[in-house]
Amino acid sequence: MARVQGKVAIVTGAASGIGRAAATLLAREGASVLLTDRNETDGHAAADAINTAGGEAAFVRHDVSAEADWISVVGGLMDRTGRLDVLVNNAGVSGGLRGIDDTTLDDWRACLSVNLDGVFLGVKHGARAMRRSGGGSIVNISSVLGLVGMPRVAAYAASKGGVRLLTKAAAMEFAANGDNIRVNSVHPGFIRTPMTRARDASREAEWEAFMRAVQPTGEIGDPTDIAEGVLHLASDASRFMTGSELVIDGGVTAR
Ligand code: NAP
Repeated sequence: MARVQGKVAIVTGAASGIGRAAATLLAREGASVLLTDRNETDGHAAADAINTAGGEAAFVRHDVSAEADWISVVGGLMDRTGRLDVLVNNAGVSGGLRGIDDTTLDDWRACLSVNLDGVFLGVKHGARAMRRSGGGSIVNISSVLGLVGMPRVAAYAASKGGVRLLTKAAAMEFAANGDNIRVNSVHPGFIRTPMTRARDASREAEWEAFMRAVQPTGEIGDPTDIAEGVLHLASDASRFMTGSELVIDGGVTAR
């Protein structure tokens, strides 16, 4: 039995990495998936690959930090399908590694506008559509850096910590309203995607060694490890979960 059969889903940042893996798994488990991203070439390729494999997918360009884009993406989907059951707020940027003293206000805002404003806008416009659909599940991709600190990631950690509590606040509000909308966060550890590739290719080995040293098992995660958690939260199997945080980190935060 497919685990999200007949559900209509949006996955943001779905051109790459974790978002692409989540969109692919949701489609394999029976959902009709709208992939969105600012990267049009890779986004179309990801949707095409799902359709070729027998799934149901489409792609639309979407900057998650722009409210007008959310209105058009969610409005267009509602016009076509009349419902939204699952929203995966996954699009994000790393903001780069830099100390607080070297972080300009523009650096800070650039990171928060995607990672936190983007999730807020998704929760707002996604929930409006879900109310018209009788309910739904919102899955916000945070990070282990939304739970614990690390040097040189202040803006990223602040954005992901914000996602963690935005998730809980929204979950409580929608529960109190009787909206039948669940909201949960996912906290990945180091996962092998373009985001965790060294910016400077000559430092790839050093960066790889750093990531492995942080992991208790020495193993770096795969995007499908996170997609499985997203699928669970999207499906009715998690119907009693809201406001919770699903940590998928190979044990990093258990140290
Ligand atoms: P990724 O491979 O870089 O994918 C992120 C996607 O989001 C990219 O296609 C990116 O496009 C897109 N994006 C960035 N800004 C956007 C915007 N304003 N509007 C729409 N799309 C936008 O990264 P990933 O590792 O899969 O990350 C996915 C999520 O997981 C992020 O929220 C990230 O913070 C989180 N996460 C990742 C890890 C990890 O180890 N990989 C760990 C914890 C949490 P561009 O390529 O054009 O930037």
